Amino acid sequence: MLNKSIKYILKNINNHGYEAYVVGGAVRNYLLGKDIADFDVTTNALPDYIEKLFEKTIPTGKKFGTITVLHDNNSYEITTFRSDGVYSDGRRPDSVSFLNELKEDLKRRDFTINAMCMDYDENIIDYFGGKEDLKNNIIKCIGNPDERFNEDALRMIRAVRFMTQLRFTIDEETRLSIIKNSHFIKAISIERIHDELNKILLSEKPSRGIRMLVNTGLIDYIIPEYLSSVGFNQHNPYHDKNVFEHVMEVLDNIEPKLNLRLAAFFHDISKPECFTQDENGRGHFYGHHIKSATVTKEIMRRLKYSNDLIEDVSILIRYHYLKEIDMKDKGVKRFINNVGIDRLDDMFALNIADIKGKSSTANFDKVEALRKKCNEIINNKEPLNRKDLDIDGNDLENLGIKKGKLYGELLDKALELVLEFPEKNNKEELTEYIMTLIK
Ligand code: ATP
Ligand code: MG
Repeated sequence: MLNKSIKYILKNINNHGYEAYVVGGAVRNYLLGKDIADFDVTTNALPDYIEKLFEKTIPTGKKFGTITVLHDNNSYEITTFRSDGVYSDGRRPDSVSFLNELKEDLKRRDFTINAMCMDYDENIIDYFGGKEDLKNNIIKCIGNPDERFNEDALRMIRAVRFMTQLRFTIDEETRLSIIKNSHFIKAISIERIHDELNKILLSEKPSRGIRMLVNTGLIDYIIPEYLSSVGFNQHNPYHDKNVFEHVMEVLDNIEPKLNLRLAAFFHDISKPECFTQDENGRGHFYGHHIKSATVTKEIMRRLKYSNDLIEDVSILIRYHYLKEIDMKDKGVKRFINNVGIDRLDDMFALNIADIKGKSSTANFDKVEALRKKCNEIINNKEPLNRKDLDIDGNDLENLGIKKGKLYGELLDKALELVLEFPEKNNKEELTEYIMTLIK
């Protein structure tokens, strides 16, 4: 399992009289027969010494004992055995002490399955029953869960993350402790939560993790806006599930790309807020797509997603409501403009997953017709926006029209005409049309 490169690293440290082991995720994934993305190494050699032993190093987290070693085009994080002090800012331990005891280092780790290590000869060292828990598919804290979650509350979300990624269950005592301590998550920096949430969303079946965030109460402190959809009855014959159950289905039914998973996760977040019932008792959610897009922007900003991703996801949500789309040429062109040509495939992916999450009688007719029409318009290179017009500001200036706000209005009117009659997109006809407008 250990390749030549990681073997060299362990050997080099061993040859100088120190212990070195592959630790954590790599050992776990090896025992699970999964690919190993990166090797973390734990050692009793001090960071200064590691820097001397290897040619290319980066002092990534030297204060906390971690040196990155670059070797054979790979990077390895080598961390000195340590015990962690309190994480009072929710980001980093206030202090760490370096140790000489492997077992003490393994004890500070989060879960039994993450606390195994492997030496140069590929012997596995497992002080806390990690192998057994791995075999039984269990996520279990090392030691007393209450104490471990008080030290670092992020571990609660990590438990949910590993449970989701690995399709494991959380040990009962650990789970009850999460419920009890969930409020401590407030103290954790958003950046750390963000990374774990993404890993949950990108898992094969993210709904398992989201349900656990809801059932343990963690969601109340991360995305309280989510609560009202849980169990919210839609009173609508086109939906055979409540809002939350529908969203869970959409989430599991969409491919694991972060923008799509986020869009699925948030696409109906404002449905409860937009709910009305007509005289027949049927539920409606007027404007929920618009409101959900706005609320999603606020939540994603708070969770520190990039502006590009926020824009991408909020556009997908804003235009996901197929009923809104007018299927005449002009309407479809507007839709293409609003969504953006490059985002259309993602848009349809969300539409399809959304439909799959509704009742069994729902069909894909409208989305397939829309896809076909979009393709035709794009293949015919029909003008779609102001940039595609055969006239521009210079032409208006040449017509003697004074520069100003009027330019925009005139070009918009010309676009209206061209969206309906693409054949009129030539200088001559557009100039003629503009002249009739300014008379
Ligand atoms: P992944 O495959 O997602 O990288 P991983 O197990 O390597 O999984 P990391 O977040 O990279 O997870 O952490 C590496 C190791 O460090 C873990 O296996 C665990 O032993 C330890 N660890 C990480 N975060 C914590 C934490 N908050 N508290 C205690 N131990 C932790
Ligand atoms: Mg890792």
